[in-house]
Amino acid sequence: HPEEVPELPAGVADRLREDGIDDLYPPQAAAVEAGVTRGESLVASVPTASGKTLIAELAMLSSVARGVSEPRSDGSEEPPGGSPGGKALYIVPLRALAAEKNAEFERWEALGFDVGVSTGNYDADGEWLASRDIVVATSEKVDSLVRNGAAWIDDLTCVVADEVHLVDDAGRGPTLEVTLGKLRTLNPGIQVVALSATVDNADVIAEWLDAELVDSEWRPIELKTGVHYGNAVTFDDGSRREVPVDAGGRPTAALVDDALAGDAPDDDQGSSLVFVNSRRNAEASAKRLRDVTDPHLTDDERGRLAELAAEIRNVSDTETSDTLAECVAAGAAFHHAGLAPEHRSLVEDAFRDRLVKCVSATPTLAAGVNTPSRRVIVRDWRRYDGEYGGMKPLDVLEVHQMMGRAGRPGLDPYGEAVLLAKNADTRDELFERYVWADPEPVRSKLAAEPALRTHVLATVASGFAHTREELLEFLGRTLYATQTDESGRLEAVTDDVLAYLDRNGFLERDDGALSATSVGHTVSRLYLDPMTAAEIIDGLEWAETNRSEAVRALGGDAGSEGDGAAADASTGATNGDPEAAGFRRASELSTAGDDPDPDDAAGSEPDGDSTDGPATGSGDDPTYPTALGLFHLVSRTPDMYELYLKSGDRERFTELCYERESELLGRTPSEYEDVRFEEWLSALKTAKLLEDWADEVDEDRITERYGVGPGDIRGKVDTAEWLLGAAEQLAGEVGLSPIPVREAKKRVEYGVREELLELAGVRGVGRKRARRLFEAGIETRADLRDADKSVVLRALRGRRKTAERILENVGRQDPSMDGIAKADSGSSSTA
Ligand code: ADP
Repeated sequence: HPEEVPELPAGVADRLREDGIDDLYPPQAAAVEAGVTRGESLVASVPTASGKTLIAELAMLSSVARGVSEPRSDGSEEPPGGSPGGKALYIVPLRALAAEKNAEFERWEALGFDVGVSTGNYDADGEWLASRDIVVATSEKVDSLVRNGAAWIDDLTCVVADEVHLVDDAGRGPTLEVTLGKLRTLNPGIQVVALSATVDNADVIAEWLDAELVDSEWRPIELKTGVHYGNAVTFDDGSRREVPVDAGGRPTAALVDDALAGDAPDDDQGSSLVFVNSRRNAEASAKRLRDVTDPHLTDDERGRLAELAAEIRNVSDTETSDTLAECVAAGAAFHHAGLAPEHRSLVEDAFRDRLVKCVSATPTLAAGVNTPSRRVIVRDWRRYDGEYGGMKPLDVLEVHQMMGRAGRPGLDPYGEAVLLAKNADTRDELFERYVWADPEPVRSKLAAEPALRTHVLATVASGFAHTREELLEFLGRTLYATQTDESGRLEAVTDDVLAYLDRNGFLERDDGALSATSVGHTVSRLYLDPMTAAEIIDGLEWAETNRSEAVRALGGDAGSEGDGAAADASTGATNGDPEAAGFRRASELSTAGDDPDPDDAAGSEPDGDSTDGPATGSGDDPTYPTALGLFHLVSRTPDMYELYLKSGDRERFTELCYERESELLGRTPSEYEDVRFEEWLSALKTAKLLEDWADEVDEDRITERYGVGPGDIRGKVDTAEWLLGAAEQLAGEVGLSPIPVREAKKRVEYGVREELLELAGVRGVGRKRARRLFEAGIETRADLRDADKSVVLRALRGRRKTAERILENVGRQDPSMDGIAKADSGSSSTA
């Protein structure tokens, strides 16, 4: 029982009881036995939904309460200032999980534990977190905090790595691996608690982390796994369940219907979670399954679902939103990474509340988010993989994690996870491959060059290694080194990487001594892949060298371009705008803004003159580099995950590429350089999406044009904002004007054209309201402060509260809208 664990702080056991936790689950008890509440490091390899989070909480709470007992890395015993307690860090693999875990841990605030989640920019040091006892963050965020020298990192007494089996992931695994290494170097006595799904080689992870091991197959609720074929499911325990599929019918629908019909006497209907391999399939599946769920709804449920559907429509006005609302109204939903975060959590909550009966999801839902279901149907066990060149079977580990979502403790007698087979051969294969099979062993991906490139630079820049020898020693303490038997491989790749970093001016090598250059430090702090930084610097330098030629081309093209009947007449960048707005407005912005930058004068450049006087009006001096050029530049870096070209795109973007070639910052590859040209076009597609966004094209139009979800637009916009922010600093670093970059960044941040930048920067305004205010003749903050209230109110469509909030934010003395009538249509029009 929790109250029998002496190390737990007062009140914890009572609180757990209140939450329905009377007994520890066996793996939790084993963890306590192994010393997790006494500061012992531990690897817990336990099935999904078997209470791993509580193991972490027991460790963190007791560590914080116990405080610092080991001597610290600098030899002192007492923490400098701050609370005398310990400090715990919980590392999650996904941002969405950070918020979820933070909300979960907030229950400990009543007992005096301060909890904080570290989100936001990668280049901040998050100083406020120094006062928190428990901090939640992604591994990328922790890595960047270390790079930026966050002082509180040295005070950590406990670190938890959630889903540590993801060190196997080529994309993000190395960051977690290296970050754990750094935290252990900084805090030699730190307790490491690593939570893992059941994997084959948890002992190797434990060896790497010098940790105790709890390796268990125990689950709080029985799980039956099986395969549906023909008219029945055969389970691993030999039992069979008839689930007939009518002629031409679909087994998924039959299985969902069967779970809802249920045979439980207490009419406790069973929900289903259907895993499919793409977003499009998730939506299509939900659309079909709503006909299955609908007849099972009660009138009361129908009413509540209608409310939920309205709430979903309220979040955003897009086609995805509409489709989701339609499905949800009938009790079915879909879930994938393209959904807006608000949509995702509405779906998760309604599914947990058993209001939504069936969710069709991509595997992101299986990773982490706690959404148990009576039945899990793994419909697609293969996924398209470009590198593999076709449909590739999913990893056993991944399928097991999906299956592990089956069975709601306290609600279901057992969980059922079902794979689907079309013929007897496939049935046998699926049993072999997934039902009987053990998950793959976890293998470090650190020795891949892109990962090492980033981490070697950061390791040197943040002082973890000053020589080649120290670097190799640091890398020698990674999981990779624990696992590899290929001696010399790590050393060879490391040397290649050092040569690359040296060649690109990020590192200096002097007789074995290593040091980061000024640019190298900046790149590390900005959290860029060095290859991204090199690409950006090249692009900016290219712009500088080819400036006059490009400007001439842009000015000359302007006329014919403007006349074109292209669908996208909105692409203002090349229309020879007589205001030549970029430089002038950007400089206004920088003096009005909160971070004046001495480089803004840009006096060294011939074009810098236009920052002072009014624009020439001749039409031959457009902003350069243009927003599109900069968007394309950041879109072709490895840090921006690109849009793929779909059928028809190649033609469309080839055409666009030649039309706008003079704006692109680099030489367009020839069409015969197949791969490079293709990449160039994919980047252009991404850039064009960003340009549409910054040209105020409706979200809905963008999702249609590019075949993406609203969540993807957000993702691209955030990444572009970060990369352009980095480009702005790199420009300064290499002596180029950062001004056009800053303007492009602001435009993408607010999703507006340049004339709205000032207004859209006011809190509460946003892109649509800024445009309406502008059209009503209110163009600046000052205009907003002085404007006729009735005009403001009309532009804001009569929303008084909104209008008051906005006027308050812009510093108006008397923002009250009491007694103000909307101006009628005549009075607000301006000449
Ligand atoms: P995991 O992280 O292993 O996937 P979770 O930690 O999310 O699993 O636990 C799944 C559910 O089990 C949670 O709702 C949690 O509150 C509950 N739970 C955990 N431990 C216990 C326990 N000892 N007794 C009852 N319920 C528990």
